[in-house]
Amino acid sequence: MKNEIIKLTNINKYYNGPDNKPFQALKNVSLSLYSGEFVAILGKSGAGKSTLLHILELIDDYNDGTFLFMDKNVKTMTDEEKSKLRNEKIGIVLQSYGLLGEYTVIQNVMFPLYFGKYIKKKNKISLAEDALSKVNILDLKDNQSDKLSGGQMQRVSIARALINNPSVIFLDEPTGALDEKTGLEIMNLLIELKNNDVCIVMVTHNEKFAGMADRIIKINDGKIIDNQ
Ligand code: ADP
Ligand code: MG
Repeated sequence: MKNEIIKLTNINKYYNGPDNKPFQALKNVSLSLYSGEFVAILGKSGAGKSTLLHILELIDDYNDGTFLFMDKNVKTMTDEEKSKLRNEKIGIVLQSYGLLGEYTVIQNVMFPLYFGKYIKKKNKISLAEDALSKVNILDLKDNQSDKLSGGQMQRVSIARALINNPSVIFLDEPTGALDEKTGLEIMNLLIELKNNDVCIVMVTHNEKFAGMADRIIKINDGKIIDNQ
């Protein structure tokens, strides 16, 4: 049985638009995300993809509707509860990798472990090495992060998202800054990372790469227009 990790029902999100008029960035968005699936959220620039992702990542608030994360209503969670969930259950791959360039690869991957429960240094290193093996760059562990190629940086960023063994991983345009061949390598890596316990959610405007996911959720002008 697939576990429902996330359920959104009629989510609306408004920003302060030009002239201080409210601008509706998400319109009655309803969707479910399950463990073991690789989902692409596909839409043009400005469609509302990042807005949706930030809500799903518990980083941004929504105005109305219901958001259940592992059956718990997000509206009733305290900031501490959200931080804990973000640290333990959610892996985030930022659009621009978000690496600390002057630190080594393994230091970047270990970073999230400093915010959770206490773990011995030796165990932190072994968890980071496991994560780096999963993305096939263990050999780069002692390299300085800003000396890597874009594809390698993306792998480090994915390893960092994996380190706490999350239930769901969100990636915002993971191939956006990469050439076609490297983008394809990252897509194949994401497919390799699929397993029954994790849900992988990728935002993209690339139709070809979206087609490699198990399911495509199309978003246009803040509305879900297709959800197969
Ligand atoms: P996408 O990621 O699909 O390119 P976004 O979610 O970033 O789209 O943006 C959706 C719409 O919301 C766009 O029209 C954008 O200009 C607007 N928007 C995004 N963030 C803000 C903000 N902080 N304040 C006002 N408008 C915003
Ligand atoms: Mg975006």
